[in-house]
Amino acid sequence: MKILKNVVIVNPGEKPYKGFVTIEKDKFISVSPGDPKSQGIPEEDGCGGWLLPGLVNTHGHAGSSILRGAGDDMALDTWLKTVMWPNESKFTEETVKAATNLAMAEMIKSGTTTFLDMYHLFVDQFAERIADTGLKAVLGRGMIAFGTEEEKQSRLEASKHLIQQFHGSADGRLHIAVTPHAPYTCPPEFMLKAVELALDKNVLFHTHCAETKKEVEEHYSTYGIHPVDHLHKLGAYSGKSLLAHAVHVTEAHIDLFAAHKVSISHNPMSNLKLGSGIAPVAEMIKRKVNVSIGTDSTASNNSLDMVEEMRMAALLPKGRQEDPTVTNADQSFSAATVGGARALHLNKTGMLKPGWFADMILIDPKGLHLQPQSLEKIKSHILYAMKSSDIQSVWIHGKQLLKNRELTTLDEEKIIYEANIQAQKLR
Ligand SMILES: [Zn+2]
Repeated sequence: MKILKNVVIVNPGEKPYKGFVTIEKDKFISVSPGDPKSQGIPEEDGCGGWLLPGLVNTHGHAGSSILRGAGDDMALDTWLKTVMWPNESKFTEETVKAATNLAMAEMIKSGTTTFLDMYHLFVDQFAERIADTGLKAVLGRGMIAFGTEEEKQSRLEASKHLIQQFHGSADGRLHIAVTPHAPYTCPPEFMLKAVELALDKNVLFHTHCAETKKEVEEHYSTYGIHPVDHLHKLGAYSGKSLLAHAVHVTEAHIDLFAAHKVSISHNPMSNLKLGSGIAPVAEMIKRKVNVSIGTDSTASNNSLDMVEEMRMAALLPKGRQEDPTVTNADQSFSAATVGGARALHLNKTGMLKPGWFADMILIDPKGLHLQPQSLEKIKSHILYAMKSSDIQSVWIHGKQLLKNRELTTLDEEKIIYEANIQAQKLR
C-alpha cells in the first residue's frame, strides 16, 4: 500500500480539490480531500501537483511510427498507396519493434496510459512488449481483405489467435479487438465474418469509417449505400463497437450511433493533416454519442501527444460552428479519459475513484504558461495551456512508468538510436 499526498485531484465532471490517494496493488482504495492521517503507510509528496486520470488514446498504428514525416501533405488514398503500403511491405520484425518501442515511449511521456492499436505486422510480439512495459492496451490485427481466400482466412485466424492468446492477459492490462481496416478495403462478405467473430468472442469491433468524402462517394457507387449504414446492415453495431473518424456522417447516422451505443474515435489532427475534414463531434456529444479521442499514427498526425489532441478536439468545433459555446474544457477532458475507456469497454478506468485502476498522471504546475493559478482555473489550464512536458510522473495499475520525466521500464536513448537505424535501413 502507498499514499500520494499533497496533490490536486482532477477528475472529469468534478471540481478539482486538494487531497491524496491511497493505492493498494493496482487500484485506488481511497481518493480523498485533505491530508492523510499517518498510519505507517509509505507516503510520497506530490508537491502540489495536479493528479489526473491517465489519458486514453482510442485509435493508432504504433507499428508505423518509423514513418513519421514520410509523405506529408498528401490525400489519404495517395498517401496509403504511394507511401504507407510500399514502405510497410519492406518492414521486418526489427522495424516494427523499433517503431512500437518509439510509440510506447512517446505515449508514456505524453501521459497516455491506455491505447488502442490496429496493425497487421508482428502483433503478438508487440503484445508481449506491452505486457513487459506496463502499458494498458486494446490490440487488434489490422485486416485488409485483398489477396487469395487463404490469405483472407489467415487474417481472421490471426485475430482469433490473438484473442485466445492475449485477451485479458497481463493482469488485465491487455485486451484484443477485431479490427478490419475499413469498409473500402474489406468487402461486405469479409466484413461480415469480422463482425461475427467480434460478436462470437464478445470483444470490441473497431474499424475506420467515413473518413473521407471520396470513400463515401465510392462506397455509394460500388454498393449503393453509405459505409455507416452498410456496417449497420452487416450487424456491426449489435455488440461493442467503436468507429474511427466518422467525419462524413449525417444527423441520422449520429442518431444511429446513439441508439446502438456506438462510440466514435475522433482523430482531429489526422483528419486535418490528410485534408479529410472535421467530424461533427459537438452534434454527436449533444445527442449523447460517446466521443473519445485518438491520435491515429505518427505518419498522419505527426505525434502521439494526447495533450495536443484533446486541445484540438476542444477547439475545432468552436471554429467549425463559429460558436465558442458548443464545447467546453471538461467535455474534451472527459473524452480523453473516461470517455476513451468507455469507448474501449474497459471497466474501472479513466477516473480517480476508489476501486478503480490506479492509472494516473502527475502534472508539475510550476510552468509560466500555467500561471496564474486557482482551483477553478485548473481544467482550463489543462485543456488550453498545458504541455505534455509538464507531465512529471505516470502510473498504470499502480506501477510507476515515468518518474520525474524518466522512463522506468524503457530505455529512451536506445529507442531513439534504434528508430533512426531502422529508418535509415528503409531509405
Ligand atoms: Zn487509422
